[in-house]
Amino acid sequence: MKNLAIFGSTGSIGESTLAVVRQNQKILKVYALAANQNDKRLLAQCLEFKPAIAALVCPQAAARLEKSLKAANSNTQVVCGTDNLTLLAKSDGYCTLVAAIVGAAGLPSTFAAAQAGKKILLANKEALVMSGRLFIDTVKQNGAKLLPVDSEHNAIFQSLPAEYQNDYLNLDIRDFGIHSIILTGSGGPFLNQPLSSLASKTPEQACKHPNWSMGQKISVDSASMMNKGLELIEACWLFGVDTDFIEVLIHPQSVIHSMVRYIDGSVLSQMGAPDMKIPIAHCLGFSDRIASAADHYNFIDGCDFTFKRPDYQRFPNLKLAKQAFKAGQEATTVLSAVNEVHVGAFLQGRLKFTQIAEQNERILNSYSPSSVFSIDSLIHIDQHARSIAEGALS
Ligand code: NAD
Ligand code: MG
Repeated sequence: MKNLAIFGSTGSIGESTLAVVRQNQKILKVYALAANQNDKRLLAQCLEFKPAIAALVCPQAAARLEKSLKAANSNTQVVCGTDNLTLLAKSDGYCTLVAAIVGAAGLPSTFAAAQAGKKILLANKEALVMSGRLFIDTVKQNGAKLLPVDSEHNAIFQSLPAEYQNDYLNLDIRDFGIHSIILTGSGGPFLNQPLSSLASKTPEQACKHPNWSMGQKISVDSASMMNKGLELIEACWLFGVDTDFIEVLIHPQSVIHSMVRYIDGSVLSQMGAPDMKIPIAHCLGFSDRIASAADHYNFIDGCDFTFKRPDYQRFPNLKLAKQAFKAGQEATTVLSAVNEVHVGAFLQGRLKFTQIAEQNERILNSYSPSSVFSIDSLIHIDQHARSIAEGALS
């Protein structure tokens, strides 16, 4: 039996995780569920999955949840606030964390789980982008395990040799006959729209991804390809390589989820329907295979596969992410932080779609690299960058 803590349980990844748990109740048990403020959704999840603990950041929502659980004679205990979420991440009651909080808010709990030697199924890419080497070293030093849920990284992982998979954070990918990694991306909803139309795109249009159903922030990041930029950085940290080792390729159908080129010319890939239940089930079952309840991809009735190179004029955020990784940790922390602020402002109608990348670039260019040593200093850099971004908006 694997005991799980699902952080971000009310979101898109959280719900997909619970759908996989529903299929595998003999081997997967939910110990804790955590979210920001959606007490209604969390209540329904608690009544179905009966976790020992439910956590909400918002105190009012936590009080409502507690009252409703009591009325339903539930034994689930409610905790509240970000500090308690971080404490919960360190608790002995569970072994596997599904890190599915969106954005920088996920870093403290994910980092705490690494310090506590947990198995971390990582969806929250921003946490890794913000803390890079420190996070990977913390995982290694505390005997924690890290498995990538993000579909591309999961596909890369699945396409690598088993011997490498078993201890990948301590091994050099180049020792396994690997030539390079091909990171695929759909190009999002604006791939074929006239460049001149991008400035007037609405949040609704940006969130309407052609293949995936996801939370708002990652949907906007997919439309601007900042998502691919964050994923490029994520892949560099996970697989211990530089950006030059990774080719970003647009594959609008999202069936090939990424690929690995070997030195003999072979290319291995993982494919499947664009459904996050597949990589989630892979991680939850690893190294066994378990059912995911996702559709099996039908090649006969499916689409033709096409590919193209990303265009930096259309997707300046992708170039920025590459530059930030080369510049160092502070730059990637700042880029992730200000992008989160700018995406939020776009969703609120305070910025145009194209201004997300313009503002990201402006603030990134005003930063000079420094050495970063601790999680607290990274969180400080994140917050300082956010205040600069917020200041420029008002
Ligand atoms: P979402 O917006 O649907 O859900 C976010 C979850 O985080 C919710 O449960 C919310 O309550 C919780 N949350 C938000 N702010 C919080 C805070 N301050 N403290 C605690 N909890 C908080 O997002 P999502 O699409 O599920 O994405 C979650 C993460 O997974 C993101 O980092 C995203 O990049 C990554 N990811 C998502 C997908 C996908 O298909 N949705 C794919 C790959 C990676
Ligand atoms: Mg992805």
